[in-house]
Amino acid sequence: MTSEIRRLPDHVIDRIAAGEVVERPASAIKELIENALDANARVVDIAIEGGGKRLIRVSDDGRGMDANSLPLAVARHATSKLVSDDPTGIATLGFRGEALASIGSVSDLVITSRVKDTDSGWSIRVEHGAVSGPIPAARSAGTLVEARDQFSRVPARLRFLKSDTAETQAVADVVRRQALAHPDVAFSLVSSGKILIEAPAGGDLMARARAILGKSFVDDARAFDTGSGPVRLQGLLGLPTSSRASTRDQYVFVNGRPVRDKVLAGAIRAGFRDVVPHDRHAACVLFVDVAPEDVDVNVHPAKAEVRFRDAGKVRGTIVSGIRQSLEEAGLVPSREARTDLADAFAPGAGATRGPASPGWSGSYPRQDRPWPGVQVVLADAMRPLGFADDPEPGFAPAAPPAAAIAERAAPDHDTAPSHPLGAARAQIHGAYIVAQTQDGLVLVDQHAAHERLVYEKLKAGIAAEGVARQGLLIPEVVELPAEDAARLIEHCPDLEPLGLVVEAFGPGAVVVREVPALLGTFDIAGLVRDLAEDLADQGASARLDARIDHVAATMACYGSVRSGRALKPDEMNTLLRDMERTPNAGQCNHGRPTFVTLKLADIERLFGRR
Ligand code: ADP
Ligand code: MG
Repeated sequence: MTSEIRRLPDHVIDRIAAGEVVERPASAIKELIENALDANARVVDIAIEGGGKRLIRVSDDGRGMDANSLPLAVARHATSKLVSDDPTGIATLGFRGEALASIGSVSDLVITSRVKDTDSGWSIRVEHGAVSGPIPAARSAGTLVEARDQFSRVPARLRFLKSDTAETQAVADVVRRQALAHPDVAFSLVSSGKILIEAPAGGDLMARARAILGKSFVDDARAFDTGSGPVRLQGLLGLPTSSRASTRDQYVFVNGRPVRDKVLAGAIRAGFRDVVPHDRHAACVLFVDVAPEDVDVNVHPAKAEVRFRDAGKVRGTIVSGIRQSLEEAGLVPSREARTDLADAFAPGAGATRGPASPGWSGSYPRQDRPWPGVQVVLADAMRPLGFADDPEPGFAPAAPPAAAIAERAAPDHDTAPSHPLGAARAQIHGAYIVAQTQDGLVLVDQHAAHERLVYEKLKAGIAAEGVARQGLLIPEVVELPAEDAARLIEHCPDLEPLGLVVEAFGPGAVVVREVPALLGTFDIAGLVRDLAEDLADQGASARLDARIDHVAATMACYGSVRSGRALKPDEMNTLLRDMERTPNAGQCNHGRPTFVTLKLADIERLFGRR
């Protein structure tokens, strides 16, 4: 790369999309970091005050600028970077020649710089658009850019800046993403004297991620490296069990540039779909590499969107890459649920422990044995089994004695505590089954457990002669985007063995005529829409059996008992016995555990009896 700065030809200027380059301190900092990286800096130190509104300071040890270059650097559309007339296929980060000019027009900008191996540094100032200098100035090799009072003379824009805290967070996010993308460069961020980020140079992505995102992020993630041919993927995939409530912990890069892009976000969601609950998001650091000519990063540089030549292929590679590496890693819930539960019960951990909760008598049950056992403790505090005739299953103060429970819940051998999952003793909150085992208790998530059972049954049915179907008295018409409807119709032959009979119904709808009998009543429209989306995710590339598994999983989710449904004792025991017989019954299709256990010994420990 040359450091000679030239004016861009007018036709190129016109072709480059005009954009708001600096909307807020964070976007100015993004541009300044990119400039430092383009200048081959090894150390980038950033300091801000007042969330960057009062002061932004970015210092680097890069190539530097001389007295002739500085005035050009702050002139609009002057750049040393674009080597051809074609703004596509650009390897450097900046290329529009707009950032410094834009920052200079909305703040009090001072750039001090010295080219390596020259005697003197130079400084230029742009006070809200008015240029003065350059004048000689002291500076070690490299460049220091300081911008004060951004937007102080543009009230319309100033008004849109958020609180200092929010702007600081936005700045930190930008620095984090850039630092993740460049592990070979040292980064630091100081906000009003406080160190927020400190990442030394060197080390691999893991080391950088640990420095930037923290130890627990890395501990709860696995390295992955996959994709061949035109789309290469690597990074860290968060464990399904450590999913987040938002996408904030998804760090995505295309050809080394941090991006926030809907196509990519959708692909990640689809990749984790089977193992992360619908309303949760996996954490990840994902580097997507494609040939420069296959991606346009010029859609909106400030917003970091990208446009791929073949978005479908990129999406497909990400979806299958994530799925495959989750499968290979055998990512199952990694945390000891038992420990988590014990922690949750541990004194001081929760606000609603025994004595404080309604219905707890405060005294131990009327039993002579020194350790009365789980059954009795629970029996004193809860109504049995949240029986089906109970409109609000759950704990209730009026509790029959333990004997009554034993009588109602143990009519036959199915309910003996000697089964691995024990005998159902109660349903609580309409969602969980409490079962007594020989040496403790089991808590079962009824929806998660049933979902896995339905899934395995569907798969077994397919493997045999096909899933039993049930005709709908009134066929259900489901409206869909025309494209989705067409795709679904195309896959009709795959869906039929699964018990789902769907036909075309005009361009933007399908009609469902038959459904798998074992699903019972369920939200047919929801299922059909989800299936259409799944098929779009997987495209034609997915193997047929993988596709079928996926359809079965989606069906299972729709067809299984919801939380909130009251279960009869024999229903609960049947579920427990089914779980014992079914493969993979320990996790639901989303990778969550279906049950947790608590040993008597642990319970005794909780109560200080050990
Ligand atoms: P662009 O990065 O698109 O070229 P900028 O306005 O960000 O536009 O920068 C203009 C020019 O100033 C760059 O092309 C580069 O030559 C020079 N420059 C900017 N920042 C630095 C820096 N930190 N170190 C060395 N040169 C820089
Ligand atoms: Mg730039």
